[in-house]
Amino acid sequence: MTFTDLGLAPKILKAIAEMGYETPTPIQAQAIPPALQNRDVLGIAQTGTGKTGAFTLPTLHKLERGRARARMPRCLIVCPTRELAAQAAENVELYGKYLKLEMALLIGGVSFAEQDRKLTKGVDILIATPGRLLDQFERGKILMTGVQTLIVDEADRMLDMGFIPDIERIFEITPFTRQVLFFSATMPAEIKRLVDTFLHQPVTVQIARRNSTAKTVRQRIARLPTGDAKVKRGALRWIMEREDIDNGIIFCNRKKDVDIVAKSLQKYGLKAEPIHGDLPQSVRTKTLERFKEGDFNILVASDVAARGLDVDTITHVFNYDVPFHSEDYIHRIGRTGRAGRKGDAIMLVAPLDDKNYDQILDLINKDAIEEIDIPDIDSFPREGKGRGRSGGRSSGGRGGRSGGRTSGRSNGRDRDGGRSGGSRKRSEPREDSVDAKPVAEPKREAKPEDKPARRSATTARRRAAPGRKKPKDDATETAKPARRNDAKRDEAKQAEPAREKPKRARRSDERDDKPAAKSRSRNSRSGSRSSGKTGGKAGGKDSVTGFGGEMPSFFQN
Ligand code: AMP
Repeated sequence: MTFTDLGLAPKILKAIAEMGYETPTPIQAQAIPPALQNRDVLGIAQTGTGKTGAFTLPTLHKLERGRARARMPRCLIVCPTRELAAQAAENVELYGKYLKLEMALLIGGVSFAEQDRKLTKGVDILIATPGRLLDQFERGKILMTGVQTLIVDEADRMLDMGFIPDIERIFEITPFTRQVLFFSATMPAEIKRLVDTFLHQPVTVQIARRNSTAKTVRQRIARLPTGDAKVKRGALRWIMEREDIDNGIIFCNRKKDVDIVAKSLQKYGLKAEPIHGDLPQSVRTKTLERFKEGDFNILVASDVAARGLDVDTITHVFNYDVPFHSEDYIHRIGRTGRAGRKGDAIMLVAPLDDKNYDQILDLINKDAIEEIDIPDIDSFPREGKGRGRSGGRSSGGRGGRSGGRTSGRSNGRDRDGGRSGGSRKRSEPREDSVDAKPVAEPKREAKPEDKPARRSATTARRRAAPGRKKPKDDATETAKPARRNDAKRDEAKQAEPAREKPKRARRSDERDDKPAAKSRSRNSRSGSRSSGKTGGKAGGKDSVTGFGGEMPSFFQN
């Protein structure tokens, strides 16, 4: 199948050809035809499958004819984060470069005055984050009556960020007759109900197996005896030294750790930069641009900030932390192995991460992930804080490791893990300046992280970064499956209250967009005044408010 077979307009075909696309990706081949026929489409596809093209190409084709009127966009693309919205805008610009279509971007950090001027003149496509969009709608700056196509991208992320009420509202205030193109990498129950309520007999296009990861990504984990931050950073560097990294992203669960890890890597001569939601939008945009341009090759990121990041040459994704929500694992590792390329995903797993790790295994339907063995991990220096206190529990039940290795991890060693030495002082290793406060720890004999690391054959191919420490010696990395351990999982469960775990809905610290408070406080009927035709088809208002409705048959498996 070719793009010409799909019946796209010649001007779009020309732009696609210039981008070097030869054939449609599977999601494009399956989603574009029904989208062109004005059908609702439910796309279950992970990032990297070409899903942005799957919804922008047919939409551009349909918009080619007709013109926008003032403040009445003809197409709405709603994205959970600014980055993802910017990414969609970039796609629209590229695919639509030969079309005379106007686009506006309503996201934080972009001057509203300019976007408002565009809206006044009339835009064909409005790309927005939900909160911004509703804000402007409530202020009367946008009229929804002209919306012919509503695109919801990364709906599962919307759920994660607490945007579902906003999305419901957007469904309500757009004309009942609009076409909906709805994309999500995973299908949690709330998303299923949303689909059931608002989409009209959608054509379901499911590319990868539900909740699956791309086959082109080699997944590995490294078991750590403790969650101690210093051990984690040491382990991360140990692994990075041995990988052939062109471009890599390191994901941390907390913004604070994003900064710390980035600084730490810089100290060790790597070209690493942080990106997270606390940085001004201008800095985030610039950082992403510089990363894309190859100014530096390691991006240390929080989930939200890296969302929508589309860099084909990302060879590695590192999970410095096991994500709190298993779906994030799929999103994170989807940054590599894009569009059929090969990629590597490596995650650090400390004992207290076992519960979340098991959830990931459940989600991706695996019993185990290949394990990287870090031989000296027991003697890596510790900071004496962090989540290392669980170490003692881990040694007995690590089924995935070989017997010899397990026995090598003494309880004594583990016990002093993250908590030990609360009142004792020690000389700070060089790297600790990264983490502000000096932390006490028992005396150590050696500082393996300061020692030159041993390297594998792959290291020779590694891209040289100026100032990077030179590793020595031979490779010692081995790989074996890391089995789940139910006993440990239960222990981790018991330890759960001690964990720092954000609530699933509304992770306010990570949100890029404000909730549209006004819109939620209003009765949903107010929307009908604007559009004249509101509400979902199935179940009407009740099902909207309460997420009522049956689970669609295609999810029942
Ligand atoms: P997405 O899943 O939309 O984020 O796209 C992932 C990557 O695949 C992006 O870098 C796109 O530019 C690229 N891509 C999308 N469609 C195609 C195609 N038909 N052929 C080759 N690359 C594509």
